[in-house]
Amino acid sequence: MNDSDRLFQKRVQKIREDYAARLPAQLDEIESLANALNVARDKEDSLNILKAIHANAHKLSGSGATFGFDEVSDIASILEQLTQVALTRDKAVSAEIQSQVTQFLVELREAAGVSPSFEEDATATEKHKINKFDRLVLIEPDPTQAKRIESELSNFGFQLERLESPRKLTEILENGGVSAIIWDNDFFGEEHLFSQEKKSSDAPSKPKTPLIFLSENASTKARLEAVRAGCDAYVLKPFNTAEIVDILDDLTEKREAHPYRILIVDDDPDVASFNKIILEQAGMIVDISSDPLVLVEKILDFTPELILLDLYMEGCSGLEIARVIRQNNAFTGIPIVFFSSETEQESQLDALRQGADDFLTKATGHRKLVESVAIRSRRFRALNLLMVQDSLTGLLNHTSTKQALETEITRAQRSKTTVAFVMLDIDKFKRVNDNHGHQVGDWVIKSLSRLLKQRLRSGDIVGRVGGEEFAVVLPGANAENAFITMDKIRVVFSEIKHQSPQGEFHCTFSGGIAIYPKTPNAVALTNAADHALYDAKNRGRDQIVLFDPQTAEPTPG
Ligand code: GH3
Ligand code: MG
Ligand code: MG
Repeated sequence: MNDSDRLFQKRVQKIREDYAARLPAQLDEIESLANALNVARDKEDSLNILKAIHANAHKLSGSGATFGFDEVSDIASILEQLTQVALTRDKAVSAEIQSQVTQFLVELREAAGVSPSFEEDATATEKHKINKFDRLVLIEPDPTQAKRIESELSNFGFQLERLESPRKLTEILENGGVSAIIWDNDFFGEEHLFSQEKKSSDAPSKPKTPLIFLSENASTKARLEAVRAGCDAYVLKPFNTAEIVDILDDLTEKREAHPYRILIVDDDPDVASFNKIILEQAGMIVDISSDPLVLVEKILDFTPELILLDLYMEGCSGLEIARVIRQNNAFTGIPIVFFSSETEQESQLDALRQGADDFLTKATGHRKLVESVAIRSRRFRALNLLMVQDSLTGLLNHTSTKQALETEITRAQRSKTTVAFVMLDIDKFKRVNDNHGHQVGDWVIKSLSRLLKQRLRSGDIVGRVGGEEFAVVLPGANAENAFITMDKIRVVFSEIKHQSPQGEFHCTFSGGIAIYPKTPNAVALTNAADHALYDAKNRGRDQIVLFDPQTAEPTPG
């Protein structure tokens, strides 16, 4: 058990103890209601009291199951059903029911004294490892080649550490912190060092460091040997650095799982915060909404990848909430998992009919909860990516970029901040295709896409909106800092040496910037940024132009 696991166990223990400590008071409350029931004035009075007992029993059945007081939960659930039946009858509460309620209370008190039963292996949950490519090792004997790779990869934000031979590799790997190894095969014959690396990584606690192999040898035999030596990617020389960046990106994406974002909607704060801790321990980001009335705002703000929804809440049922969520087009795909003490099959079916994706009872163990949530979130993420991504670059596609701009404008409106919108277009790109071929052209597009992702902050939005056209949304940026940011990227891009069989070449791009709220809506922003981009092209390309509403002529059309 490591420190974080121990801390987690401690927190869970603490919450359970707190809950156990509060249990008697909750039972006291039911008891005083039961006493009131015995002296109820009339039918209406007795039914109102019974309603309160029913609500308390329901709550207890859910929270008891969550915190491992299974017996309390079971008894409370029977009490809940009993009172439900009596309420439906709509008759004055009989003496028989009164005595049963009292009897259940005795049993509840007994059960509350029993230590909770709980899965103790809650920490054996899926953890998402964050593994950024911050440090690369390059094993390259040729200093010229090494310099080239080093300088080109640094354009994309990768730090290289060069080794002249693989001999020191084991030592470096043992110190940790290396995200990938790029290996030039001039060292053929030293494969035993590969296998050493592989062996040391066989231990499950130590994930294997990705290995990229550079080679002149296109034969299957050589590739096979490389694979056996543990290589993850095989790059033929001469290569384009963009190829390596692609591979690194691919490997990064596989390893760098962003934590899932889960929204819990539950009116019982104890249950909600307990489940929050369980899911957080599994590496997810969790937010709680206890007020169904502001849920839509919350979903917009938090952008959950799954909603865990309590089926019964005061004032509003989970089924109604699911319908509200499903009515909003922007939320269509978000999985809704109902979470309740409800065990009746009919209600579960009802929930599924209303658009729920799954149904979990509050007595579900930690592990099952984490698993169900992770599986649904993963599927949602995968489908979502298919819908919103551009396939060449992995950036947002045209439609999603437009949507993202709208969302950011709405946000900025609320928080009274600015948004910068930027349109970029690669200069004389037709010529790149004509001179070097379409595939090299594609690499140039990818290299710009990579550079934008690398250089912008994580909250910024990058989309590919046309062949060699990109759009960037910078929430919170004003004209000045948007210009500085984009101009830096422009300079770095112009310095990248692209390779092709016809030789090395450089590329540039032009950009236009417009700012919200000076330009007041998405359509106007798009026109304004386009207008500024057009100006940048006319003024000689390779530059960024800020849209000026004062001097701009009205956009044609
Ligand atoms: P300007 O500086 O005025 O923007 O000149 P340009 O040549 O970049 O502009 P133009 O719009 O005339 O040409 C864009 C070219 O981009 C035409 C098209 O063949 C190419 N292109 C569009 N999409 C792709 C793509 O996905 N891959 C490649 N390789 N080329 C593409
Ligand atoms: Mg164009
Ligand atoms: Mg162009």
